[in-house]
Amino acid sequence: MLAEVEVADKREIMANQLLVKGCASVKELLTVSFGEWPPKGLEINPEIKHSQTVKLIPMKGDAAMALATPPVLQQELWIKLNKELIQQYGMLYSTMGHEMTHILQGEHSTRLQKSFSMKMAEFFKGGQGVVSEDIMTDFTSRKGNALTLKSDFNKNSGRKLSHSDELMFRMSKVINSKGSEIQARIHQIVIDGYPRWGKVPATSDEFYAAMKNAGFQLPDHIEKKLAELPENSSARHFLSCEEASSKVCKNKVADIQSIIDSLQEKSRPGFWNEVMPALYTDLIEMYGDGPGRARFGLGVNPKTQMPLKYFPGQADVKKTSPAPS
Ligand SMILES: [Zn+2]
Repeated sequence: MLAEVEVADKREIMANQLLVKGCASVKELLTVSFGEWPPKGLEINPEIKHSQTVKLIPMKGDAAMALATPPVLQQELWIKLNKELIQQYGMLYSTMGHEMTHILQGEHSTRLQKSFSMKMAEFFKGGQGVVSEDIMTDFTSRKGNALTLKSDFNKNSGRKLSHSDELMFRMSKVINSKGSEIQARIHQIVIDGYPRWGKVPATSDEFYAAMKNAGFQLPDHIEKKLAELPENSSARHFLSCEEASSKVCKNKVADIQSIIDSLQEKSRPGFWNEVMPALYTDLIEMYGDGPGRARFGLGVNPKTQMPLKYFPGQADVKKTSPAPS
């Protein structure tokens, strides 16, 4: 008998089966993440097949829990999974979902190349800009959303940063620019919550309510909004669900929270007002929920204007939607 709920999670069994098989389509990986496909709550475009094949390769040693193909244009996609480490610190289905998010980011990244010079830079690096990184870069480079207290401290006081302060500052800069990592962790938090919620958050209110349920401390103005939700709001459901208890969810929430804590107090609301919804809606659009971003009031994702050149799994969509010339 399987005593532990986590062991009994059928997704863990599905993930193990795929790893034994040695490869999976992106659709199979999405199915492992949610335990079914399409997930409830979203408007997944059935024309998006997610049929790309990803090699699943067992990995050993202490270096990393898992790795995915970097976002470079190449034929073979792969995910390496270190089962020994994953079992110690997390869940296989969750780590597999994290790496699958990186695979999705890599493919979609080709759809947002803003300028010729950026294109050239990416060409020489052999990769493409990942949209989630652009979201973070945009946020962190904007005035008033400065990264950390330390940078302003330096500017205001005129004092030089100590070596360790500078190291801290650089570290936080690296972490803060990693929108792709935040996005992969949001995916892990969402799939952890999916069995509790019974659906994926599809609106701004639902998203905030779901993140509160997952264990985030939200800024006061969002907490207030949630406390005053209308009686018939669909977001209330997420607040009434049993709270998150898994180790994986706690760790992922703590990871993102530490990034938020490294921001200046005044820029934290911006992280929740802008960055988190932008990363989340980009994520659900990668699942195949085309109008996701618009439903959040964020307008059409600029990615949708880009030709779907490098999407083997989305060839059918490419045929039906004319590519801009
Ligand atoms: Zn990652």
